[in-house]
Amino acid sequence: MLAFDISSNAQNVDLSSVDEFLNITALLKNGEEVNMEQWNQLDSSAAYSLFSNSKDNTIPNIVKAVMLDIFGCSDSKEQTQNGSLLETSVRENYEDIKKNYSEIRKFRDNYDFEYLISNAKFRLQTFLGCDQLDASVKWRPVYFFFLSQDGKELDNAIVIDLNLIYKMAEEERINFLAHEFFHLYRAHFEHHEFNYANDINFAIDMIANEGIADQIDKYMGYDQYFSNFSKSKELASEFKQLYNNAPKDIEYLQTTIAQYAANQIDKDTCIDRLISIYKYNGHALGFYVSNQIIKAGLRDEMIKEFHNPYEFFRLYSLTLPKNEEASLNDDFLHFLKAETEQYY
Ligand SMILES: [Zn+2]
Repeated sequence: MLAFDISSNAQNVDLSSVDEFLNITALLKNGEEVNMEQWNQLDSSAAYSLFSNSKDNTIPNIVKAVMLDIFGCSDSKEQTQNGSLLETSVRENYEDIKKNYSEIRKFRDNYDFEYLISNAKFRLQTFLGCDQLDASVKWRPVYFFFLSQDGKELDNAIVIDLNLIYKMAEEERINFLAHEFFHLYRAHFEHHEFNYANDINFAIDMIANEGIADQIDKYMGYDQYFSNFSKSKELASEFKQLYNNAPKDIEYLQTTIAQYAANQIDKDTCIDRLISIYKYNGHALGFYVSNQIIKAGLRDEMIKEFHNPYEFFRLYSLTLPKNEEASLNDDFLHFLKAETEQYY
């Protein structure tokens, strides 16, 4: 860690949403009233404010209702059991926070969040094998809050559930944040014009993006990753199934795009077919591909071109047996090369 200097691109950490949440839940636990101003302070704190706007207040409404329900005294409980998927995961998380309430408070007061950020950047630097990270990359601030046990990159900030971080081992925290930082770092080098030209390009690029990013925090494999901390069992088994289907699904992706390139199917049909295999931003597909590339001894080549989707799939093609299916793969690569040539 010694050689790493973050002073040149200092990045802010914001805990105001965590603090407002803890202030209000402390009152609720004591059976005290929470006034309008206190709720407004919660809504306007750094992380929660990113989810509230004049058109859609779904998330702040769920947050408030579940806070009242879980932390309020029993006779004031609002019955909001209509259960959207998000509400269910917020509820599970808040139940869990209530169980470890004083430990989480202590963690918030004593944990060195700036140090976590600098460690995560150092982890990214090591992963990329560079002497230092590019100084012109614009980092986004990291806002902590409580919602569901997850993290998300938004336009202005990375938002992360504090309970997720609390429950992780230190190495997992560093890897988790380094994965998010990889996306920010890559965004600086990738070609937005190509990626956002259409859904086909977007999916191809995202598979490469998540496939490499998963090597930062999930290099031990989905089995161990998902058993390490309390993620939902359904999600774990879905990811494992997607991973097992990945060889076939990638072949299907290549066939579909080769057919599109040969004008055998139109763009909408192509996109519809891609959507049928492209789940969770293509994590499992990309992770399968990056694992094959690494097994074939081509990790360094993959990392060198970490922003280039063509190189990702070209390296994958080198891992495949040379048989009759290779020509399908060639058609796909020709198309991708032609599409990306002007950008990379
Ligand atoms: Zn990711």
